[in-house]
Amino acid sequence: MPRHRKPRSYKSRLNVYKKHKEKLRAVVFERDGYACCYCGSTDNLTLDHIIPLVHGGNSRPENLQTLCLRCNRKKGSRDLREDPSDQANG
Ligand SMILES: [Zn+2]
Repeated sequence: MPRHRKPRSYKSRLNVYKKHKEKLRAVVFERDGYACCYCGSTDNLTLDHIIPLVHGGNSRPENLQTLCLRCNRKKGSRDLREDPSDQANG
């Protein structure tokens, strides 16, 4: 298929996220009061997709939450089992 506007693939959604990451971080951290949504920690905060991109989630603030690194890892390890990104399909 030639390069054409197809429905947002995982890769294009990932690119959108990367492009806007800094801005999104500021918006979501501000909204969540610079604290982890799970445990309330204010250390090592990360931006987390509630519905992971690989599962069809988008990068709008509604689908993003503030998580500390520990909670993000806990959540992430569960998501990783189904993560298709190591197969080269976009
Ligand atoms: Zn936490």
